[in-house]
Amino acid sequence: MLRGSLDTLSHTAMKTKISVIVWNEFQHERQSSAIAEIYPDGMHQVIAQALRVGDADLEVGTATLDQPEHGLSEERLAGCDVLVWWGHKAHDQVDDAIVDRVQKRVLEGMGLIVLHSGHFSKIFRRMMGTNCSLKWREADEKERVWVVEPSHPIAAGLGEYFELPYEEMYGERFDIPQPDSTVFISWFEGGEVFRSGCTWERGHGRIFYFRPGHEAYPTYYDANVQKVLNNAVRWAAPRVNIVDNCPNAQPLEPIAKKALNFAKVGILQSTKDIQ
Ligand code: ZN
Repeated sequence: MLRGSLDTLSHTAMKTKISVIVWNEFQHERQSSAIAEIYPDGMHQVIAQALRVGDADLEVGTATLDQPEHGLSEERLAGCDVLVWWGHKAHDQVDDAIVDRVQKRVLEGMGLIVLHSGHFSKIFRRMMGTNCSLKWREADEKERVWVVEPSHPIAAGLGEYFELPYEEMYGERFDIPQPDSTVFISWFEGGEVFRSGCTWERGHGRIFYFRPGHEAYPTYYDANVQKVLNNAVRWAAPRVNIVDNCPNAQPLEPIAKKALNFAKVGILQSTKDIQ
């Protein structure tokens, strides 16, 4: 027993790096020269590099829609601690089987960070169970991101607020379930406000939605945005990795015989029953 426990401990201790996959549909950057000018290698590369530079303990790879299985094979996802998701115009091209696979990993403990227009992605809507709709306007507006939970780990190192000189407006109502924490609230030049940094737990996994990141603006080069992404990856990293089951359990102590007898249905349920 002791030997086994020690082995488990040393195995856990050996994995010191947090494995991150930055997923991007990678369409705008290849279809629009104006957007390619901002992100010549794709947004995912800028985000991935910011994570690597910001935190030496991260092992960061990327994946895109066009790759086989969208770059998210069973094996790759099994080794992934935190998945970062940017999608916009091709949500419908994401295979449902891959959405199932990502959902399963989040429920097991993998972190999920959904960025900007990912609010309408299949995986975010699946995890939220709501429409995830919002108000929007593309008008080169200033966004002021207020830090409303300064003690939250995702807000570490930020001031009272930070500003992005050019962003797309997202406004309330954002149709999401009540977040566990609302870390940021954005104000826009045109007057609207938006819950722009929200956290939830689903199963054993942590989810963070972060609003900024419209493809037409250089948002992912911003130092404060990069700090948020680094903090969020740390926060969302798995604490456990538990594959779901639904066992028929034997009692720990004898159960006293009762005066009345009831029928036992005895159906053995398993996760296969609901697939
Ligand atoms: Zn946008």
